[in-house]
Amino acid sequence: MKTLHHWIGGTAVPGASGAFGPVTDPATGERTARVPLASAAEAGEAVAAARAAYPAWSATSLATRTAVLFRYRELLDAHREELARAITAEHGKVHADALGEVARGLEIVELACGIPALLRGELSTQVSAGVDVASIRQPLGVVAGITPFNFPAMVPLWMFPLAVACGNTVVLKPSEKAPSAPLLLAELAARAGFPPGVLNVLGGDRTAAERLVEHPGVAAVSFVGSTPAARAVYGAATAHGKRAQALGGAKNHLLVLPDADLDAAADAAVSAAYGSAGERCMAISAVVAVGGTGDPLVARIRDRAARIRLGPGDHPESAMGPLITREHRDRVAAYVTGAPAQGAEVVLDGTGRTVTGYEDGHWLGPTLLDHVRPGSDAYRDEIFGPVLCVLRAETYEEAMALINASPYGNGAAVFTRDGGAARRFQLEVEAGMVGVNVPIPVPVGHHSFGGWKDSLFGDHHVYGPDGVRFHTRGKVVTTRWPDPATAPSGVDLGFPR
Ligand code: NAD
Repeated sequence: MKTLHHWIGGTAVPGASGAFGPVTDPATGERTARVPLASAAEAGEAVAAARAAYPAWSATSLATRTAVLFRYRELLDAHREELARAITAEHGKVHADALGEVARGLEIVELACGIPALLRGELSTQVSAGVDVASIRQPLGVVAGITPFNFPAMVPLWMFPLAVACGNTVVLKPSEKAPSAPLLLAELAARAGFPPGVLNVLGGDRTAAERLVEHPGVAAVSFVGSTPAARAVYGAATAHGKRAQALGGAKNHLLVLPDADLDAAADAAVSAAYGSAGERCMAISAVVAVGGTGDPLVARIRDRAARIRLGPGDHPESAMGPLITREHRDRVAAYVTGAPAQGAEVVLDGTGRTVTGYEDGHWLGPTLLDHVRPGSDAYRDEIFGPVLCVLRAETYEEAMALINASPYGNGAAVFTRDGGAARRFQLEVEAGMVGVNVPIPVPVGHHSFGGWKDSLFGDHHVYGPDGVRFHTRGKVVTTRWPDPATAPSGVDLGFPR
């Protein structure tokens, strides 16, 4: 079993608290590593390293920052396989999916390579006689990133490349359940030329995260995780006077209108519900079938879902891997076993499934619940597993009312051939990311990612233009260079007219 470390000041630093958390291979159930759980003192050391690096890094030219980021992009590209293997070993998702995660993270590094254009200010000349006004954006200082287990590489890459491109330094506190890929990201950053202290990785759990959120040396907190934790982090960070963005959980709906191509809708529902075993914040977890689409759609989804090959993520034939922990698998299974008593029909039951040779893995097969009631536990809660709920609605209006009553508002999708209905949906739905015949509408890097309602606390979405705004603060400079010969100075107590 490996003992992992922190990454502070450009080097591996062993844990000093004496406390460790287990890292498990979800396919075998075996403990493969232990991750140090940072004490308050260790969190303070990481912040001190980031603070020490800040003056020089924030003064580094855009040309130099860009050169470092281009080298980082090349190194990440060359290490896609290694990163994907580290993700699969600790998260469990299949290799192709892990490679996709790395690719989507790389997109944000590529965005950060264009930082000179993104940070370009604005200038108004001659706003008054001989007076110019410039708006510029400057970095914040030390930024903390706190990230979830389900995208061990992509979510950190949503945050720190843009943060450092803007001139900040970073302390990343990745999930204690999948810490190896983030450590590899930091090692590659050092090889690319990130100066020591510009990117630090702190091993730890909720306690380490809370110490960062409270730390007076941290200027801003970027959080991605479950809604209760996001709400708590946003509240604590803002109470400590920090800028914060906290992305939370989700219950993403797919609305299927009667004119939709039902085969395409079923393909999309199955891909979006069961990919990564449903452990995606943009997974579709509820299908709302309108009019007579329910029965034919459920039949199509069941046929496709039943054929999904369950297995370890590093086997090429596997299409869906295990869940992150045994406790989480059991929690997901409890929603399925409890569903009939709350009115649902279990059309496909993935509980009790196992994989030969991997009997101790955290398995749960694709599960389909039909006739799910809006008030039931399976519908109300974010299950975060391969469980798809189907609800029925008579009309578009009834379906929309149901979707908009959800406390979450991350993503929502509509499947239809009717452009007018799709347009109405995109304007009326209360979600931050909308798909039209696209089930997982994760924005590309140069558009920002973020949900509404309980899926995001704060005013900024992540990456894209909002990522630059979040990691900088505005300053407006008013300039006058009077010529003493033609514009002699004088006292004037009035307000300029
Ligand atoms: P989690 O909330 O348990 O943990 C996320 C991170 O926060 C971890 O680093 C953890 O150590 C830390 N943490 C946990 N509780 C905390 C607290 N009270 N205060 C401070 N830090 C705390 O989430 P998870 O189980 O790792 O990830 C799954 C969740 O993340 C799901 O709810 C999923 O929807 C959500 N998620 C959301 C997005 C999004 O973009 N909205 C993206 C990915 C995942």
